[in-house]
Amino acid sequence: MRAEKQIKIALAGNPNAGKTTLFNRLTGANQHVGNYPGVTVEKKEGECRFNHHLIRVVDLPGTYSLTAYSEEEVVARDYLVRERPEAVVNIVDASNLERNLYLSCQLLELGLPVIIALNMIDVADDRGVKIEAAKLSELLGVPVVPMIARRGQGVDALLAAVLRLAATPAPSAPRPVSYGEDLDRAIISLAGRIEAENVLADLYPAPWVAMKLLEGDARLAAQVKEAAPEFIPTVMAEVNGVIAHLDATVASTTEAMIADHRYGFIRSVVRQGVITVQSDEDRIYISDRIDQVLTHRVAGPLFMLAILLGLYYFTFTYSEMPVDWLMRGFNWLADAVAAILPDGYLKSLMVNGIIRGVGGVFSFVPIIMFMFFGIAILEDSGYLARVAFMMDRVFRTFGLHGSSVMSFIISGGIAGGCAVPGVLATRTLRSPRERMATLLTTPFMNCGAKLPVMALFISTFFTQGKARMMFLLTIISWVCALLVAKFLRSTILKGVPTPFVMELPPYRFPTLRGLLLHTWERTGDYLRKAGTVILAASVLIWAMMTFPALPTAQKAVFAARRQALGAPAATVAVAISPAMKAQLGRIDAEEAEAVLAHSLAGRFGHFLEGVSRFTGFDWRTNIALVGGVAAKEIVISTLGTAYSLGEVAVGNDGSLAAALRHNPAWNRVSAFSLILFVMFYSPCIATIACIVRESGSWRWGAFAMTFNTLFAFLLSTLVYQAGMALGLG
Ligand code: GDP
Ligand code: MG
Repeated sequence: MRAEKQIKIALAGNPNAGKTTLFNRLTGANQHVGNYPGVTVEKKEGECRFNHHLIRVVDLPGTYSLTAYSEEEVVARDYLVRERPEAVVNIVDASNLERNLYLSCQLLELGLPVIIALNMIDVADDRGVKIEAAKLSELLGVPVVPMIARRGQGVDALLAAVLRLAATPAPSAPRPVSYGEDLDRAIISLAGRIEAENVLADLYPAPWVAMKLLEGDARLAAQVKEAAPEFIPTVMAEVNGVIAHLDATVASTTEAMIADHRYGFIRSVVRQGVITVQSDEDRIYISDRIDQVLTHRVAGPLFMLAILLGLYYFTFTYSEMPVDWLMRGFNWLADAVAAILPDGYLKSLMVNGIIRGVGGVFSFVPIIMFMFFGIAILEDSGYLARVAFMMDRVFRTFGLHGSSVMSFIISGGIAGGCAVPGVLATRTLRSPRERMATLLTTPFMNCGAKLPVMALFISTFFTQGKARMMFLLTIISWVCALLVAKFLRSTILKGVPTPFVMELPPYRFPTLRGLLLHTWERTGDYLRKAGTVILAASVLIWAMMTFPALPTAQKAVFAARRQALGAPAATVAVAISPAMKAQLGRIDAEEAEAVLAHSLAGRFGHFLEGVSRFTGFDWRTNIALVGGVAAKEIVISTLGTAYSLGEVAVGNDGSLAAALRHNPAWNRVSAFSLILFVMFYSPCIATIACIVRESGSWRWGAFAMTFNTLFAFLLSTLVYQAGMALGLG
């Protein structure tokens, strides 16, 4: 047997280009996963044999660029220049060629021995796009191997090309991309000095260092400073001179200029017969035609608003009846259980704690389902991506990023999401400051748990124009989130914005199966939460609302009043007059009220009235709001319990809505004030935990709790005081 030669290759590419698929094809079970030193980025290594060679393969983290905005980019870049693999296999998604070539262009700038694996040609084919690999290879000056990684097609050809490249002794020279006359001249001049001083010569080509310094790559500047401290002041003076000159002449940053020229280079490559679109009738073409209308500068946003409004009409119109049925059902169940069980704590726990508490949350399942179904249509058809695209420009003015839109939408930007995945979705943001600003404002969106609160108060106090009200609240949540983001980005999170690339997937017709699956998954999450966390919290809160029990002396007072009326003992069934029944009912209600006021929760709620009177909340509402920090659903279930424990004037049907409507403390203004407070006050525990984990500091969690609560308090106070002064109550 011949001796094996060893070579080292790295797989680089955009996320989802198929790196891992290819890596698994190549290495099979021969792989292990570790971490790059000092960071959380995963490092996957493995090996394979081909033609008497042992090929060691590293799967680099997926990146769109080789700047230093994220850990992934830094890891990929450092690995490539320090480890100098014999071949860099750049996996390119053929169905998304232009965007993927942006990274390729940067690999070529570094003078690395690149092979392009033109992956997903099956997808490109389906879309009627054909790519001339030979032409692409000729224009870029590197081997290009078409493949379908998922089927293993083209893998052997790729390995053969790798071996050919590894056998050529000298790596290819850096590919000269022109960045425009001004920059080119500056790069040549700077590169001359860098070469003369031998700065970082073992790692990077001199023109690349020059280009990166001009691009404003802080990490590279730090590396240069460390390698040649005496050299940096003069070089930076020259760099700053060029930057100032460009700023004065073309009013653009060097970074943007360089990016523009890279795209220009790619476009020119692609236009030279690399891509042929086979038919005009394909999906992309139709998509483009639709987008001409749906993402039109003026008509697009109008369509977007109309679509949202339509979604709310759909939800509120069709979910009203089932919600009503469920509420009646739970009321019936509560009454039935109350009739069976003997008076006492068990009855109170079952009826007031569990059935009314959890029932209050379950009753809103139809609204949640309809909303989720509508959103699934928008998402699966590809329209949500257009929303993000259109909102990008608006977001930039507020110091956020186009990618922030997705986080907002996931958190309930259209209504009915969850801030936990929303917070996790901020991971796609590259700039730490934009990411923090998104992270902190994304809980302002109307998540699924806030919906029941809104739905209850809207349908109780704003019976005319429910959909319009929901629409208004959505707009308020976005406006507040953007204003707060702007505030954060101009105070504690100051910094420059990062460039944005976004792709619009072609529209597709959603399948019913997909829609139902999406709806079901999300509704399932809601139900699971209602059955676990909320059940437990309801029981806990019930206990706090029941104990300590009323002292016997006070109980005796109520008993005496009943006797004074000549009421029969409970065990004897005697017909009583309606008048007496009403009087007895009033005494029952007064006693229940006294019990709640005496309890732990009642005292705390009363204590908070000192501040909550500014926002128009009574002590029962305070109890619900404190409970709501555990999970926002608790607000509704606790209100249900609080108002059934201490009913002052119960409506005919005994529902919470009726109880609120008949309670003099509640009116349109206080209802609106409460809705706003619930929308903006402290995120729930799960979200706070996520913020702490994602920001790496408990301080941001504490900040979100206090800042948001303060913000909500100020807003509600303003609305309540103004509304009452105007006599709108
Ligand atoms: P990575 O993010 O670059 O590691 O991408 P993955 O290897 O995880 O692939 C992303 C998705 O593309 C997966 O669902 C793969 O199954 C799929 N995929 C990979 N290669 C191909 C291909 O050649 N054709 C098609 N149709 N799908 C592919
Ligand atoms: Mg991967």
